[in-house]
Amino acid sequence: MDLGIKGRKALVCAASKGLGRACAFSLAREGVDVTIVARTPGPLEETAEQIRRETGVTVTAVATDITSVEGRSLALEACPSPDILVNNAGGPPPGDFRDWEREDWIKALDANMLTPIELIKATVDPMMERGFGRIVNITSGAVKAPIDILGLSNGARAGLTGFVAGIARKTVRQNVTINGLLPGPFDTDRLRSNMKAVADKAGRPLDEVAAERAKGNPAGRFGYPEEFGEACAFLCGVHAGFITGQNILMDGGAFPGTL
Ligand code: NAP
Repeated sequence: MDLGIKGRKALVCAASKGLGRACAFSLAREGVDVTIVARTPGPLEETAEQIRRETGVTVTAVATDITSVEGRSLALEACPSPDILVNNAGGPPPGDFRDWEREDWIKALDANMLTPIELIKATVDPMMERGFGRIVNITSGAVKAPIDILGLSNGARAGLTGFVAGIARKTVRQNVTINGLLPGPFDTDRLRSNMKAVADKAGRPLDEVAAERAKGNPAGRFGYPEEFGEACAFLCGVHAGFITGQNILMDGGAFPGTL
């Protein structure tokens, strides 16, 4: 299927690895020029070069922290008027809420709620004026089914989801959609580091815990980041103009509800 977005410009946050990287790759395969952001220059440049080599699109790499004011200005300087915005950042650490101070909450809210809101604010009006825009927020399956040790994530992402629900119906008339894409367990560094915390706490080997968890998913495996990237690209395509304000769960069927 031709997604109809060849020549568009995308800003993809937190995209040197994992799900963000997969989204950037899938968009680039559709002919979208991508600006990718991550803090560590080495892996970021490596990803940028791989995308260029494989797809031939223009790739701009911005090594910065997207959760900082300066980082967001650098990203927007490199891609001032994106047609597509993929919001993403590292997830907050696991833990017990009794140990979290105000500072921990502010950090989580900054990364997983306020940064996407700031980027939406900076880009949505020009998208509406141009009559095309696609915003995808990478959140988490925890928006639908909270994970006890990820309380910081549960809270911050619920805040973003509530905010987006309020504005996504205000932009769609100008062909600008805003949706959440909710990953369940995808095989990335992030998943492995979360599982390591669980394995260490239980005093068990990581591989054993990972195999058990993959087997326990209805699909019998973890998600492949490429599957996530392709779903993101579809939501950014011209055919997805009637989908807005939705939270699309990709978890292999792990969430047990009917709806
Ligand atoms: P990942 O494999 O660890 O990749 C994270 C990417 O984000 C890296 O490129 C990292 O590069 C970049 N990044 C992190 N913090 C950043 C910042 N402040 N500024 C700019 N770039 C930043 O993680 P992932 O699995 O793709 O997860 C992506 C998001 O989905 C996270 O919020 C995670 O909590 C959420 N999620 C993932 C899963 C899963 O199963 N994988 C499930 C539910 C939710 P640098 O470190 O160099 O900056």
